Amino acid sequence: MAKLATIFSTFALGGIHPPDSKELSKDLPVEVMPLPDVVTIPLNMQILTATPPVEAVVDKKAVLSEGQLIGKPIHFLGVNIHSSVSGTVKAVDTISHHMMLRVPGVIVDVDKNAPPPHWPARAWQELNSRELLDIIKETGVVGMGGAGFPAHIKLNPPPNSPVDILLINAAECEPYLNCDYRLMLERAADLLDGVKIIMKTLGVEKAYIGIEDNKPLAVKSLEEAMAERHQGIGLAVLKVKYPQGSEKQLIQAVTGRVVPDGALPAAVGVVVQNVGTTVAIYEAVALSKPVYEKVLTVSGRGIARPANLKVRLGTTVQQIIDYLGGTTGDLAKVILGGPMMGLNVSDLNIPVTKTFSGILFLTKEEAALDSFGPCIRCGRCISVCPMGLNPMETSAHAEAGHYADTLAYGVRSCFECGCCAYMCPAKRPLVQFMKLSKLKNPIR
Ligand code: SF4
Ligand code: SF4
Repeated sequence: MAKLATIFSTFALGGIHPPDSKELSKDLPVEVMPLPDVVTIPLNMQILTATPPVEAVVDKKAVLSEGQLIGKPIHFLGVNIHSSVSGTVKAVDTISHHMMLRVPGVIVDVDKNAPPPHWPARAWQELNSRELLDIIKETGVVGMGGAGFPAHIKLNPPPNSPVDILLINAAECEPYLNCDYRLMLERAADLLDGVKIIMKTLGVEKAYIGIEDNKPLAVKSLEEAMAERHQGIGLAVLKVKYPQGSEKQLIQAVTGRVVPDGALPAAVGVVVQNVGTTVAIYEAVALSKPVYEKVLTVSGRGIARPANLKVRLGTTVQQIIDYLGGTTGDLAKVILGGPMMGLNVSDLNIPVTKTFSGILFLTKEEAALDSFGPCIRCGRCISVCPMGLNPMETSAHAEAGHYADTLAYGVRSCFECGCCAYMCPAKRPLVQFMKLSKLKNPIR
């Protein structure tokens, strides 16, 4: 298959067009942050689990080399954790975490004079699917766009869900974020090799890269790399609309297939991986390199110097702030990820994990911190919901404490994209109401 015909389409229901605010960092090449003095490596870097997913396999005073295994899974959703630096273990202790408050972690004093490791190239074309899966598992790859689902599980779908399409999520539709964009500009050939590796792992013949038409330079970069050496991969250029990067919306936009409510993409024969994960799989398989670094966007008008940074896992937010010259006086809010679906943070000692895509430092003006008012029943939240939900009625029931009544409005299908809250003229915290309703109605 040569380059696919360019498709100008998008998903059908709802969606919004927030200002993309990408100009702050989109032209900044990925910069390698120098080694910090200490790294604080969490042993929880994947999708959340009820019990600890990983246990340390090193003790205090152990001398580590960069890329050495330091944590092994004790839960089926756990993944291997490797040291992001050479150095000496200062402590194995509980540390700050962006989701779990405190988790077990390994604190390492960094040896800045240690020689860099050599990661040997591997002839991956000669490996079969099982061997590729084993390497992906061994190197600790998870969904690097925020979900953190172990890649070796996602790329091994059950036999009753045969997959025929690999879809690479290159939409990066969250405002401010540019890390995937920079990878597409700077490492298009590696990305495409990663796509080939995943195709071979899954045993599929078709792969599409879904990208929005506000990234013409990335489209050009991918087209050039595809023309040279990567037949079999199609490029689907989509109309800009948030939340196009959500799996269900992207699948519909590119393939026309609709994932049933409550089902996974494999139910319609599709596996989705994002750009960062695909490059991580390339490095794991073709270069034998475990996951211990992360490219992320640091942006917003509340940081002295925005950047796209490659950092060692376990580098803290505060260490990144210090490296970039500090925050500005009008900083009002720090968010992990994008402003639509990201997480507010107050503890700047939290370390970077495999799932970070960005850290935003927003001023009051950028963060829109107005207090909220009563619903005026304008219906805008309903018209933009990509899942066809009714946030107006759901939030009214949640506000009254009638959480059971929110089930009738399909609250469990909400994936917290934030479109409704963005459009609400009364500034109602609709996502919080949806989250709370889901929490009060757990699936048993
Ligand atoms: S946050 Fe939930 S309810 Fe609101 S628009 Fe997104 S999916 Fe719909
Ligand atoms: S957008 Fe806000 S004010 Fe309008 S109906 Fe929805 S909740 Fe009410």
